Amino acid sequence: ADKRECDVNEELGNMVTLLSAQARGCGVSLDLSRETLPRLVADPEKLRQAFLNIMLNAIQASPEGGTVRVSTSFDRKGGSIEIRIADQGAGIAPDAIAQIFEPFFTTKGSGTGLGLSITKKIVEGHGGSLEVESEPGRGATFRVRLPVSG
Ligand code: ADP
Ligand code: MG
Repeated sequence: ADKRECDVNEELGNMVTLLSAQARGCGVSLDLSRETLPRLVADPEKLRQAFLNIMLNAIQASPEGGTVRVSTSFDRKGGSIEIRIADQGAGIAPDAIAQIFEPFFTTKGSGTGLGLSITKKIVEGHGGSLEVESEPGRGATFRVRLPVSG
Protein backbone atom coordinates (compact mmCIF):
# COMPACT_ATOMS: atom_id res chain seq x y z
CA ALA A 1 0.00 0.00 0.00
CA ASP A 2 2.73 2.42 1.07
CA LYS A 3 5.20 2.19 -1.80
CA ARG A 4 8.31 4.28 -2.11
CA GLU A 5 11.94 4.00 -3.18
CA CYS A 6 13.62 1.34 -1.07
CA ASP A 7 17.12 0.10 -0.59
CA VAL A 8 16.74 -3.67 -0.35
CA ASN A 9 20.28 -4.08 1.03
CA GLU A 10 19.51 -1.66 3.82
CA GLU A 11 16.20 -3.34 4.71
CA LEU A 12 17.90 -6.75 4.75
CA GLY A 13 20.73 -5.39 6.88
CA ASN A 14 18.19 -4.06 9.37
CA MET A 15 16.55 -7.48 9.67
CA VAL A 16 19.90 -9.23 10.08
CA THR A 17 20.69 -6.82 12.93
CA LEU A 18 17.27 -7.42 14.46
CA LEU A 19 17.79 -11.20 14.43
CA SER A 20 21.46 -11.28 15.38
CA ALA A 21 20.93 -11.79 19.12
CA GLN A 22 18.41 -14.56 18.52
CA ALA A 23 20.74 -16.28 16.05
CA ARG A 24 23.65 -16.03 18.47
CA GLY A 25 21.46 -17.51 21.19
CA CYS A 26 20.88 -20.53 18.93
CA GLY A 27 24.58 -20.79 18.08
CA VAL A 28 23.84 -19.78 14.50
CA SER A 29 25.93 -17.35 12.45
CA LEU A 30 24.28 -14.89 10.09
CA ASP A 31 26.37 -14.05 7.06
CA LEU A 32 25.30 -11.17 4.84
CA SER A 33 26.82 -10.57 1.43
CA ARG A 34 25.46 -7.67 -0.57
CA GLU A 35 25.97 -6.62 -4.15
CA THR A 36 25.24 -3.08 -5.28
CA LEU A 37 21.55 -2.91 -6.18
CA PRO A 38 19.33 -0.41 -7.93
CA ARG A 39 16.58 1.11 -5.85
CA LEU A 40 13.21 -0.55 -5.83
CA VAL A 41 9.75 0.94 -5.51
CA ALA A 42 8.22 -1.14 -2.74
CA ASP A 43 6.54 -1.12 0.63
CA PRO A 44 9.55 -1.29 2.98
CA GLU A 45 7.57 -2.60 5.96
CA LYS A 46 6.22 -5.48 3.90
CA LEU A 47 9.66 -6.25 2.52
CA ARG A 48 11.08 -6.35 6.03
CA GLN A 49 8.32 -8.71 7.12
CA ALA A 50 9.02 -11.01 4.16
CA PHE A 51 12.77 -11.11 4.86
CA LEU A 52 12.17 -11.60 8.57
CA ASN A 53 9.87 -14.59 8.04
CA ILE A 54 12.35 -16.40 5.79
CA MET A 55 15.35 -15.62 8.00
CA LEU A 56 13.53 -16.68 11.15
CA ASN A 57 12.65 -20.03 9.57
CA ALA A 58 16.27 -20.43 8.46
CA ILE A 59 17.57 -19.77 11.99
CA GLN A 60 15.02 -22.17 13.47
CA ALA A 61 16.03 -24.84 10.94
CA SER A 62 19.75 -24.42 11.58
CA PRO A 63 21.83 -26.79 13.65
CA GLU A 64 24.03 -25.32 16.37
CA GLY A 65 27.18 -24.07 14.69
CA GLY A 66 25.33 -23.59 11.42
CA THR A 67 25.46 -20.54 9.19
CA VAL A 68 22.59 -18.77 7.49
CA ARG A 69 23.89 -17.10 4.35
CA VAL A 70 21.96 -14.11 3.08
CA SER A 71 23.04 -12.64 -0.23
CA THR A 72 21.79 -10.19 -2.80
CA SER A 73 22.52 -9.75 -6.47
CA PHE A 74 21.18 -7.84 -9.42
CA ASP A 75 20.14 -9.72 -12.54
CA ARG A 76 20.69 -7.01 -15.11
CA LYS A 77 19.22 -8.99 -18.01
CA GLY A 78 16.09 -9.98 -16.11
CA GLY A 79 15.86 -6.58 -14.48
CA SER A 80 15.36 -8.07 -11.06
CA ILE A 81 16.89 -8.10 -7.62
CA GLU A 82 17.56 -11.53 -6.20
CA ILE A 83 17.79 -12.30 -2.50
CA ARG A 84 18.97 -15.74 -1.40
CA ILE A 85 18.64 -17.09 2.11
CA ALA A 86 20.39 -20.42 2.58
CA ASP A 87 20.62 -22.54 5.70
CA GLN A 88 22.37 -25.76 6.64
CA GLY A 89 19.40 -27.40 8.31
CA ALA A 90 17.58 -30.63 7.55
CA GLY A 91 15.93 -29.24 4.44
CA ILE A 92 12.34 -29.86 3.47
CA ALA A 93 10.85 -33.26 2.75
CA PRO A 94 9.92 -33.62 -0.94
CA ASP A 95 6.27 -34.28 -0.08
CA ALA A 96 6.12 -31.15 2.11
CA ILE A 97 7.58 -28.76 -0.48
CA ALA A 98 4.25 -28.33 -2.25
CA GLN A 99 2.59 -27.37 1.04
CA ILE A 100 4.98 -24.98 2.78
CA PHE A 101 3.47 -21.90 1.12
CA GLU A 102 -0.07 -22.89 2.15
CA PRO A 103 -1.53 -21.02 5.12
CA PHE A 104 -1.46 -23.03 8.38
CA PHE A 105 0.96 -25.67 7.11
CA THR A 106 3.55 -26.18 9.82
CA THR A 107 5.79 -28.97 11.02
CA LYS A 108 6.58 -27.11 14.24
CA GLY A 109 5.00 -27.87 17.58
CA SER A 110 3.96 -24.28 18.12
CA GLY A 111 4.18 -22.90 14.60
CA THR A 112 1.38 -20.87 13.03
CA GLY A 113 2.20 -21.95 9.51
CA LEU A 114 1.49 -18.43 8.31
CA GLY A 115 4.96 -17.00 7.72
CA LEU A 116 5.63 -18.32 4.24
CA SER A 117 2.10 -17.82 2.93
CA ILE A 118 2.28 -14.16 3.99
CA THR A 119 5.76 -13.86 2.55
CA LYS A 120 4.66 -15.27 -0.79
CA LYS A 121 1.73 -12.83 -0.93
CA ILE A 122 4.03 -9.92 -0.21
CA VAL A 123 6.58 -10.94 -2.84
CA GLU A 124 3.94 -11.60 -5.49
CA GLY A 125 2.22 -8.35 -4.54
CA HIS A 126 5.44 -6.66 -5.65
CA GLY A 127 5.38 -8.55 -8.96
CA GLY A 128 8.08 -10.94 -7.81
CA SER A 129 8.48 -14.63 -7.13
CA LEU A 130 9.44 -16.83 -4.18
CA GLU A 131 11.06 -20.19 -4.75
CA VAL A 132 12.68 -22.82 -2.61
CA GLU A 133 15.29 -25.43 -3.30
CA SER A 134 16.05 -28.09 -0.76
CA GLU A 135 18.48 -30.89 -0.46
CA PRO A 136 17.24 -33.11 2.35
CA GLY A 137 19.89 -33.35 5.03
CA ARG A 138 21.88 -30.44 3.65
CA GLY A 139 19.65 -27.41 3.93
CA ALA A 140 17.17 -25.19 2.18
CA THR A 141 17.61 -22.12 0.01
CA PHE A 142 14.85 -19.58 -0.47
CA ARG A 143 15.12 -17.25 -3.44
CA VAL A 144 13.17 -14.02 -3.69
CA ARG A 145 13.08 -12.20 -7.02
CA LEU A 146 11.80 -8.64 -7.20
CA PRO A 147 11.50 -6.84 -10.52
CA VAL A 148 12.95 -3.36 -10.79
CA SER A 149 10.39 -1.75 -13.02
CA GLY A 150 10.19 1.81 -14.07
P1 ADP B 1 5.94 -21.86 10.72
O1 ADP B 1 7.33 -21.29 10.77
O2 ADP B 1 5.01 -21.23 11.72
O3 ADP B 1 5.92 -23.36 10.78
P2 ADP B 1 6.01 -21.02 7.95
O4 ADP B 1 4.93 -20.68 6.98
O5 ADP B 1 7.03 -19.98 8.20
O6 ADP B 1 5.30 -21.48 9.29
O7 ADP B 1 6.75 -22.34 7.45
C1 ADP B 1 5.98 -23.48 7.11
C2 ADP B 1 6.80 -24.76 7.19
O8 ADP B 1 7.78 -24.75 6.14
C3 ADP B 1 7.60 -24.94 8.45
O9 ADP B 1 6.82 -25.47 9.49
C4 ADP B 1 8.67 -25.94 7.98
O10 ADP B 1 8.15 -27.25 7.92
C5 ADP B 1 8.92 -25.49 6.56
N1 ADP B 1 10.11 -24.63 6.44
C6 ADP B 1 10.13 -23.29 6.25
N2 ADP B 1 11.38 -22.82 6.18
C7 ADP B 1 12.20 -23.89 6.33
C8 ADP B 1 13.63 -24.07 6.35
N3 ADP B 1 14.46 -23.04 6.20
N4 ADP B 1 14.11 -25.33 6.50
C9 ADP B 1 13.27 -26.38 6.65
N5 ADP B 1 11.92 -26.28 6.64
C10 ADP B 1 11.39 -25.05 6.49
MG1 MG C 1 7.87 -19.34 10.06
